[in-house]
Amino acid sequence: MIAPSSLPRLFAHAGSRPLSLEEHEVAFRRFGPLASVLDELEASGLVGRGGAGFPTTRKVQLLRSQRGHKYVVVNGMEGEPAAHKDNRLLSTNPHLVLEGATQLATMIGASRIAVCVARDNQTVVHHVEHAIHERAGEDSRGPHIDLHTPPWRYVAGEESALVHWLDDNESLPQYRPGRPHILRIGRGATLVDNAETCANVALIGRYGAQWFRSLGTPEHPGSVVVSVTGAVTRPNVLEVNLGTPIAAILAAAGADPNPQAVLLGGYGGAWLRGEDLATPYSNEALAAYQLSVGAGILAVLPREACGVVEANRVVRWMAHESARQCGPCAFGLPALADDLLDVVRGGREGIAAVARLKERCGVIEGRGACRHPDGVVRFVRSSIDVFSADIDNHLRGVPCAGARSRQRYLTVPALENEEELIWE
Ligand code: SF4
Repeated sequence: MIAPSSLPRLFAHAGSRPLSLEEHEVAFRRFGPLASVLDELEASGLVGRGGAGFPTTRKVQLLRSQRGHKYVVVNGMEGEPAAHKDNRLLSTNPHLVLEGATQLATMIGASRIAVCVARDNQTVVHHVEHAIHERAGEDSRGPHIDLHTPPWRYVAGEESALVHWLDDNESLPQYRPGRPHILRIGRGATLVDNAETCANVALIGRYGAQWFRSLGTPEHPGSVVVSVTGAVTRPNVLEVNLGTPIAAILAAAGADPNPQAVLLGGYGGAWLRGEDLATPYSNEALAAYQLSVGAGILAVLPREACGVVEANRVVRWMAHESARQCGPCAFGLPALADDLLDVVRGGREGIAAVARLKERCGVIEGRGACRHPDGVVRFVRSSIDVFSADIDNHLRGVPCAGARSRQRYLTVPALENEEELIWE
C-alpha cells in the first residue's frame, strides 16, 4: 500500500458512496506506529481549514492544559451557501474525519466527540450516522461519538454558536473577550475543529509530518479542499496543492478563464481582481492582497456580471442571517444592504449612499460579539474597491448590462419578500 503523497489525499479512494470502516482501514492502512502524534501534528504545521487558519497544535496545547471533562466538536455545518467541501468529505470518507476527531480527543483527554451536521442535509446526516454506528463496537475504551443536527444557518456554523447549541440548544454566537478563548459545554473545555481539519489530523497520524509537508508551501503546507462556484460549468469541489496558481484551480474546475473577479473566503471574504489570478493559492501569497484561503471557497464572477448587484444580494442575505444580538449587526447590516441598493439604483441618492457605506463600515467594524459583521464589512469594502467602475456607471444613471440581466452568479438563498431588481 502506497501512501497518497500526491493528490488526491483526502479524497483518495473516494467513490460514489461512503467508504465503510473496513474499506477505510484497508485504504489508509497504517505505515507503522508513530512516536507521538502530537509531535507529528506540531511538525506538520497544519492550520485549521474552517476559515480562521489557526494553528491546530496551539488549540490542542491549550486544551491539554485544561482539567476535568473535555469535548471535541467536529464542525460539519458548512454555513456558507457557496461551500460544499465538508459535505463532500463526510459523504465520501466519513471515517477519515471521525478518526482525526478521535486522535484529537486522545491528545487532549476528551471523553466525548460531538459531530455536528446541519439537519437540513439529510444525506450527509445519514452517512455520518451510519459511520458512527459502524465504529460503535470497535473500541469501547475510546471516546464516545454522538451526532448532533442543528438547523442550518450562516452563524450556526460559527464555533461559539455551535458550542452554545450543544450547551443549551441556541445557535447564537457567544461573546469572546479575546483569542484564543476556551469554549465550554457545561464546564467542560471544548475543542472545535472543522471536518477537513480532522481528516488532515487522521492522515498526519497515519503518515507523519514529513509526508504532509511534501505538498503545499513551507509556510502553508498540505492540500486543501476548495469549493468553486459562480461562473463555472457546474459547482465543483476539488482537492488542490496549496500554492497552486488560482488560475490553474479555476481551469481544473471548468470556470470562466477570464473572469472579472473571484471572491475568496466566502461571504465574509474579499475579491481578487481577474488580473491577479496568477497568484498562488496560499495564505502567504494572498496576504499581499489582505486575503487568505479562509474556508476554501472560490466564487467566480464573469465580466458580464454586475458586482454591485451581486454585493447587494449577498449583504442583504448576510444581514438576514445576523443573530440580532448586537446593535451594530442587527441594524448596521440591513443599513449596509439598503445603501448598496441605493447605489444600484444610482443618481443623487446613490452618491450619498457610497459615502454612507464607507462611514458605516467604520462604525460597525469590531463591535459585534462575533466576527459576522466584520466579515460583511470586509466584503463591502472590497466590493466598493473592486467594482468601482460598475459603481460609477450606476451613479451616472447608466446601469451596466449585468445589472439589467436576470442572470445572477453568487449562490444566495432566497429571502421572503425580496424584491428582484429588474430594469425594463
Ligand atoms: S455580531 Fe451579529 S451575528 Fe454575531 S453575535 Fe452579534 S448579532 Fe449575532
